[in-house]
Amino acid sequence: MPVRDIINEAARNFAMAGIASPRLDAEILLAFCLDCERLDFLKNPSLPVAENALASFQKLAERRLKGEPVAYITGRKEFWSFVLDVNNSVLIPRPDTEVLVEEALILCKKPDTVEIKILDIGTGSGAIALALASEIPLARLTATDISAAALATARKNADTLKLNSQIIFLQGDLFEPVDDFFDIIVSNPPYIGEDEYEKLPVGVKNYEPPEALQAGADGLDFYRKIVAEAPGHLNNNGWLLLEIGSTQDAPVIDIFNASGQYSDISVRKDYAGLPRVIKARRKING
Ligand code: SAM
Ligand code: GLN
Repeated sequence: MPVRDIINEAARNFAMAGIASPRLDAEILLAFCLDCERLDFLKNPSLPVAENALASFQKLAERRLKGEPVAYITGRKEFWSFVLDVNNSVLIPRPDTEVLVEEALILCKKPDTVEIKILDIGTGSGAIALALASEIPLARLTATDISAAALATARKNADTLKLNSQIIFLQGDLFEPVDDFFDIIVSNPPYIGEDEYEKLPVGVKNYEPPEALQAGADGLDFYRKIVAEAPGHLNNNGWLLLEIGSTQDAPVIDIFNASGQYSDISVRKDYAGLPRVIKARRKING
């Protein structure tokens, strides 16, 4: 069977199942089965696909049809300038989170002779910490997660990308395993409230780890805790940067203001024009 027919048929089935990017998903899964790049076969769509490759493609297509995200099927996801290993113990890194990386990089515009210390709370696949380490050779990162399985994945990604010498991984609840001070603290914490969680798409709700998403009744539990505890680990004038859900800007700003410990609170929008990152500076003590 030629590539063209395989892709067309799978894309039609995916579209009927309500999958948002049916053709792209079919192409990524076929490239994974053939162990090649999409472009390799898109250039030559009449290329025949061997029976055994077609059979393994059909199995993966069935998993996709049931709702499993492409990244969990292939075990990898592009983020920033690299490809990360992912599995169902880590959130699949989202493009929106690259906005958090961009904002942190703006704050890192020190002379590149100065070491900068950064903490990433809830590192998951390691996406944010690895992007920052790759961009700032003098950055020293600490990356935490409550999940041992997530940390193992993040460590593996750091090894693959040869960034392990820049990052220390610690397991524990938020700041509990951390006893250092930082210039920048970043986090994409869980931020989904109870009602919203029930309404999440099947691919998220049935496949991604609930502990990476659920954040109490109103989705703000982690903001309350992180905003309260971060000043105890920030250098004077250090920055806290938090990814937020697109409707959480007002309540999270209220949490920052109510703490009285921050100045320069601002919101950065993502590329869809939605509020996505809040940053604030720790007030100087004394
Ligand atoms: N930083 C990754 C990213 O942006 O793709 C993952 C973000 S995911 C939304 C939140 C992460 O926080 C998950 O990996 C989860 O295991 C971790 N987490 C949940 N509760 C935590 C806690 N109390 N302390 C530390 N990490 C926690
Ligand atoms: N952006 C994720 C989603 O849409 C939520 C991630 C989080 O809770 N930090 O499902």
